[in-house]
Formats: sequence, C-alpha cells, structure tokens
Amino acid sequence: MNQRVYNFSAGPSALPESVLMEASKDMLNYKGSGMSVMEMSHRSKVFEEIIQEAESLFRDLLGIHDRYKVLFLQGGASTQFSMIPMNLMTKTGKADYVDTGSWASKAIKEAKRYGNVNVLASSKDKTYSYIPELDPASFTKDADYFHITVNNTIYGTRFAPDLLPDTNGVPLVGDMSSNILSEVYDINKFGLIYAGAQKNMGPSGLTMVAIREDLVGQAMDLTPTMLNYKIHVDADSLYNTPPCYSIYIAMLIFRWLKNQGGVEAMEKTNKEKAALLYNYLDESSLFKATVEEKDRSLMNIPFVTGNDELDGAFVKESTAKGLVNLKGHRSVGGMRASIYNAMTMEGVETLVAFMKEFEAKNK
Ligand SMILES: *Cc1c(COP(=O)(O)O)cnc(C)c1O
Repeated sequence: MNQRVYNFSAGPSALPESVLMEASKDMLNYKGSGMSVMEMSHRSKVFEEIIQEAESLFRDLLGIHDRYKVLFLQGGASTQFSMIPMNLMTKTGKADYVDTGSWASKAIKEAKRYGNVNVLASSKDKTYSYIPELDPASFTKDADYFHITVNNTIYGTRFAPDLLPDTNGVPLVGDMSSNILSEVYDINKFGLIYAGAQKNMGPSGLTMVAIREDLVGQAMDLTPTMLNYKIHVDADSLYNTPPCYSIYIAMLIFRWLKNQGGVEAMEKTNKEKAALLYNYLDESSLFKATVEEKDRSLMNIPFVTGNDELDGAFVKESTAKGLVNLKGHRSVGGMRASIYNAMTMEGVETLVAFMKEFEAKNK
C-alpha cells in the first residue's frame, strides 16, 4: 500500500497526518540538538522543555485546576486498575464501581484484591449496550472513591458529560482512555482521571493521570515504588526514564488540538462526525447501531447487519477500499468504527458512502 488509509482502529489508532509529518521532519535532528528525541537524556534541557510544554497544554486543553497533579506514566491504563486501589483504597478500604464493559470488569477484578468493592450496577445482561441507571441510595457513603469507565471502547457507550454520577463528595475516578480530549468534561468533578495515550493522544507507552492533590500520599505499605503516585508527583514524572518519545508525540498532538480550537471545537466536529454515522445507521434497512441513543459514544460506534456472513463481506470489501480496521471486537462481533479526534470528516463521509453502496448491493 503506497497510500494512507482511513484507519478506524480502536487503538493504537490514527494520528493527525500533520503531526506525523512534523515528527518525521524532526526525526534525525530535533531543534538543532543533533539527535532524535528518542536518543536524548530525559534529564536534558531540551527534553525538559518538551515534557513541560506537554503538561501545560494538557492542563490548558482540559481546564485542569492547579490543585491537581498531572503525571506521565507507563504501564497503560491497565496498570491504573491496580494503582488506583493501592493508592486510594486506604481510609475505609471501600470503593464503588459501575460495570459497563470489559475494561470496567478488569478494573473491578484488580480492585477486589485490595479491598471491598461494591459493584453498583452492570449492563452485562445486554452485552453492555447501555449505561445502567444508578440509584444514589445504593452508593457507599464512606467509600474511598467511585470508579467509572467514562467511555466504553468495545461497546460504544459513554457517560455523557451531563450524566456523570453525583457521588456526594466521594472522589470520582474516571477511565477516559478512549474519550479524553474529545468533548468537554468538567475534569474538576473528578478526583482522578486516567487515560492510555494510544487512543486519542499519541503512541502507546504513555498513560496520563490527573490526580487531586489531597489524594496523593496515602498509598498502602505494600505499594511498589513505581506504583506509588507520590513518587511520581515528587519527581515530576521523572523518577525513572519516562516514555520520552511518546511524550513528545503527545505534545505535538496537544499543540495540534489547540490549533484546531481546543476541546470545544473538537467536540463540535466529533458530534458532526458521529451524527453522520448514527443518522445513517438509524435510517438504514441493512445496518443498525447497537447502543441505546442516550448512551452513545462519540468515539466508538459499533454496528451490525444481523448476518455474520454479510458482516464478514463488509469488513473484507471495506478493507479493499482503504477503510480499514472496521471489524468489531471479538466479544461483540459485527463492526466498529472508532472515530477519534484524528479521524477526519472526510473519512466518515467516505465510510458512510461505502455503507450506502454496500446496502444497495445487498438489499
Ligand atoms: C484501551 C483501554 C484500556 C487499556 O489500555 P492499555 O493502555 O492497553 O492498558 C483501558 N480502558 C479503556 C477504556 C480502554 O479503551
């Protein structure tokens, strides 16, 4: 293939072309340093500028208050599944979780090793195709925190910004791996948010965390040094070698996002992109969306024909047309289009046009 494709991968996922161009320009000699960002010391002045700019843009884009610490970590979002309970489940040893999919259940499974986990609700009964109703009377009043997966990458559901649970003072912890920076959330409603970079912020290897200051410094004694937030806070994320190159690309993405008009502008485009696809799915007589309307993700859009053979043919034919990675997650089947920030309107238009063609041919 000598041409770029429309890449609908759920992660690692498409990056803005201008960012890749810029990185390739800097590949051999970053800003006159005579070396690539991959080759420089993480304690050098030139790298220090990169990580500082990345942090300041990240704070700015998300509107993160000064009383939060921003961390650049490794281990993926999956490491946060245990890091969170080890660091936060330390006053009453209780935490509330909502089971909205595979990632949520993995987070629950880890947390159970460290304390009392109360699973408030689950949407497993219908293959996680909706966000379950939550009854505030069932919330644990003295829980150390309340965990949600804000966007469910595999199933295509999300807690919309106006539908976050009101936890009545219990710190809300949110896994925002697949929708960070895609629409405006009031981050200050959370005690902690975390996100692996490879969906909306860059290459894998980097995990961003924003944690309210008062939640730092209470880790369990058994907590490994590398999994203690305080260690990383005190060292400004340079306790050991951070994922330098991923941080550099994330910085370029944050710059790109800011040039696009920030998260508000991104949200507008993302809503237009998602509406184009959902509207077609709702009127199509062949394809249908699998998620309840109010809970639909702007980032991950699963759909099916209801016929496995047709689904297979669709994936095959779309791939041949340069619309790639549309196969649904193995646990759901069908198709899934992940349309993160870097996916252009043109990409979604091309997809919908192809779907219409496929529908006409397979009436
Ligand atoms: C991808 C993903 C994860 C896992 O991320 P890793 O960085 O691979 O550990 C966790 N939660 C959500 C919501 C995800 O989309």
